[in-house]
Amino acid sequence: MSTEYGVTRTIIQRALNILLPQVCRACGCLLKNSDKICNDCFCKIRWIGKPHCTICGSPFESSVAVSHPCPECLKRKPAFDWHRSCVLYEEPVNRILYHLKYSAGMDCIGVFAEWFEKIIGEQTVKADYLIPVPLSMGRLRRRSYNQSVELAKKISHRTGIPVLIHSLQKIRKTVPQTELPREERLKNLRGAFAWKEKKICLKDKNVFLIDDVFTTGSTLNACASALKLQKPAMVGAMTIALNLRH
Ligand SMILES: [Zn+2]
Ligand SMILES: [Zn+2]
Repeated sequence: MSTEYGVTRTIIQRALNILLPQVCRACGCLLKNSDKICNDCFCKIRWIGKPHCTICGSPFESSVAVSHPCPECLKRKPAFDWHRSCVLYEEPVNRILYHLKYSAGMDCIGVFAEWFEKIIGEQTVKADYLIPVPLSMGRLRRRSYNQSVELAKKISHRTGIPVLIHSLQKIRKTVPQTELPREERLKNLRGAFAWKEKKICLKDKNVFLIDDVFTTGSTLNACASALKLQKPAMVGAMTIALNLRH
């Protein structure tokens, strides 16, 4: 970014802050700067660090343990090779994510992209492509945008990793995952996603799937299963938040 452009942007930002007072996207308190989340809310966020399951990314309670696959993942290995969430899905993160999904909470996308960059930086392999989890056409029409696509675009903009938006598609309607018990979720999504890209070959490539929340991991699992048919070297997955209460 040129200095001139940066100065102009700062002036415009300050003017906007005066004209349109900014509020915290979690608690609604008035903000004195251009942050999206107030300091109190930011301090409440619980970050997921080591030790954690090296496959599903769930944090371990003991801080002295080393990262390793958890019993659940050893029992039934997911289709993705690894998954990492940035934070735990609880207050105040759930409030911010609610806005992201159901209303105009898009201005927090930059904050989340910054969190994702940290996870990308921790990986030993470099991603060749970012692939957002797709929505069905019907749901996309109702919501008007897919938050995972917007997120992947922002991460791509910051990291330079190319994003493939229409390559992985949801090819059939499914019952919303939130309405189903854990054991039904996998069945519900079986065969729901397919690789529809003819120009790009995933063989031996490293791909990172992008989504907002990890609950049982069924959606990412179904997406990774569809991608694995293309013989990539690795399918990783990243989400903003991990929901442990499921
Ligand atoms: Zn707040
Ligand atoms: Zn695990």
